[in-house]
Amino acid sequence: MEKRAISYGRQTIEADDVEAVVKALGSGMLTQGPLVEEFERKLAAYTGAKYAVVCSNGTAALHLACKAAGLGPGDKVLTSPLTFLASANAALYVGARPDFVDIESETFNIDPAEVEKKVKACPSVKALIPVHFAGLPCGMETLGRIARERNLIVIEDACHALGASWTDSKGTVRKVGSSSHSDMTVFSFHPVKSITTGEGGAITTNSRKLYDRLLSLRTHGTVKDSARLFNPEGLPWYYEMQDLGFNYRLTDLQCALGVSQLKKLDRFIARRAELASLYSRLLSKYPFIKTPEVQPGRDSAWHLLPVRIDFGGLGASRKDLFELMSAIGINLQVHYIPVHLQPYYRGLGFKPGDFPKAEKFYEEEVSLPIYPLLSDEEAGAVVEALLSTLACASSNRRGALAI
Ligand SMILES: *Cc1c(COP(=O)(O)O)cnc(C)c1O
Repeated sequence: MEKRAISYGRQTIEADDVEAVVKALGSGMLTQGPLVEEFERKLAAYTGAKYAVVCSNGTAALHLACKAAGLGPGDKVLTSPLTFLASANAALYVGARPDFVDIESETFNIDPAEVEKKVKACPSVKALIPVHFAGLPCGMETLGRIARERNLIVIEDACHALGASWTDSKGTVRKVGSSSHSDMTVFSFHPVKSITTGEGGAITTNSRKLYDRLLSLRTHGTVKDSARLFNPEGLPWYYEMQDLGFNYRLTDLQCALGVSQLKKLDRFIARRAELASLYSRLLSKYPFIKTPEVQPGRDSAWHLLPVRIDFGGLGASRKDLFELMSAIGINLQVHYIPVHLQPYYRGLGFKPGDFPKAEKFYEEEVSLPIYPLLSDEEAGAVVEALLSTLACASSNRRGALAI
């Protein structure tokens, strides 16, 4: 068999996933058929939220959530600088102003204590978008309390965290997506995420009002339900556009894949967790590589395996490491270039030094391959290659090898 290149993430598609999509193709409904609602029902049941709305991708889900929450010009939205661009861009899409709060050193998630300070200092803050970085749940109880005290909207960006859970202070286990301490939770079904529909996204909520708005905004802001019409005419073809919405629908074909993948989610997460502990074990002898620590009361979805490497101390270059690893078929990645350092965000007034913990994390971070199909042997080979390549890329070879 040809040796597969190893990348930081990839999908798991099995024979029954293929069958499910083929069956949907033959069903006569390519989009907006029964599988959309079935996938939504099952996502709601899995996460423990009352409602789920699926849409075309995670970015669209964030946009819909910001719009449904009524965010707009004059509103400030706080998120983490250590995230994918979309978490912050969603605020811009609705005319609001994104701003950032630095990360905590232990979890790499937005620091609730810093959020509280910023919210107190800045009355224009109207919403929080905490990101469950790498799949590790944020401190939702604290964030939820801060938000309640000031009437802030909370939209969890759980694009890394479908399948993760955490235990609250009363001992209740909360699935990420239950939206127990937020207004809405957003997911992505991009191929590298916990489960995939090719492209796809979803929002979960416990609010009927937000649910109705999300459904309407997904389809051009239209309403058909006679109870909600502004001008009920009793005409069979009648519908109203009540707000400016979009075509952010997900097709039946994609929902067929989603329903099939959702059945495997817990198995996928369990395998990711096994790989995470394997990496921790294999790398525990090497103090210049720090693996993520397991956090009590939080069960990560292990979307990423971010390690931090002391490149400075080793006299090694991350660029050399990437090039040498890629030459042997192992493609690493870095998550993330802090959003505020992007040229577009610098144009909005952000600058280096604004969020030093996220910036330091970025300087050291490398994402090792982690996905359900990665074998123990492959993970072992990644570690071996990493260690020998680091020794090679290091000007201080004795230092690297002696430890
Ligand atoms: C993947 C991702 C998104 C966007 O999802 P898409 O489906 O690619 O649009 C948003 N936020 C985070 C944190 C992500 O990882």
